[in-house]
Amino acid sequence: MTSLCKVCLKSEILCSVCEEKLKKGEISPYEVKFSKTVHELSERFPPLKDAKFLKVVEGRNVLFVITEKNHAPRFVGRGGKIVRLLSEKMGTEIKIIDSSEDVKKIIDEISKPARVLTTSVVYTPNGTKRRIILSSEPPVKKAELSSLAEALTGEKVEVVW
Ligand SMILES: [Zn+2]
Repeated sequence: MTSLCKVCLKSEILCSVCEEKLKKGEISPYEVKFSKTVHELSERFPPLKDAKFLKVVEGRNVLFVITEKNHAPRFVGRGGKIVRLLSEKMGTEIKIIDSSEDVKKIIDEISKPARVLTTSVVYTPNGTKRRIILSSEPPVKKAELSSLAEALTGEKVEVVW
C-alpha cells in the first residue's frame, strides 16, 4: 500500500517524495485526492483517522475504494453517512469494498456488467501467474484490474476477456 505522507495530506502541493510516487504511478491522482478528502473528514469522524485503503480504482462514473481488511465500516459510517460525504466531496459516486472479501467477488463487482468466468494458473518461463477471464470488456482499465488483483493476492495476475 502506498499513501501520502502526513505533510502532503494537509498541503496543496506535494513534497518531492510523494510527487515521485505520483510520477511513477505508485499512487494515482484519485488516490491523492481521496487521501486528502479522508484526512479532512477525519477531523469530524475519528474512525477515519486510522482508516486505510489499498487502492482507488476508476470505473465509469464511480470510484471503487478497496480498503484494508475490515476497514470498510470506517469509510462507510453509520447509515452510510461518511461514504455519502466522501462522494459529495469527490464529486462522484464512491463504492467501498473491503479487501477481506474473496478476490473473485471483488473483481466481479468492479468489472460489472462483465463478470469473472474462470481463473486459472498459467505456467510461464518466468514463473506462474494467475489468469482471470472476464465475460466481456469491463468499464475499468485492464492495468488497474490486474494491479488490484496482484495487490490482493500477492501473485502475478493477467486479466483477459
Ligand atoms: Zn509527501
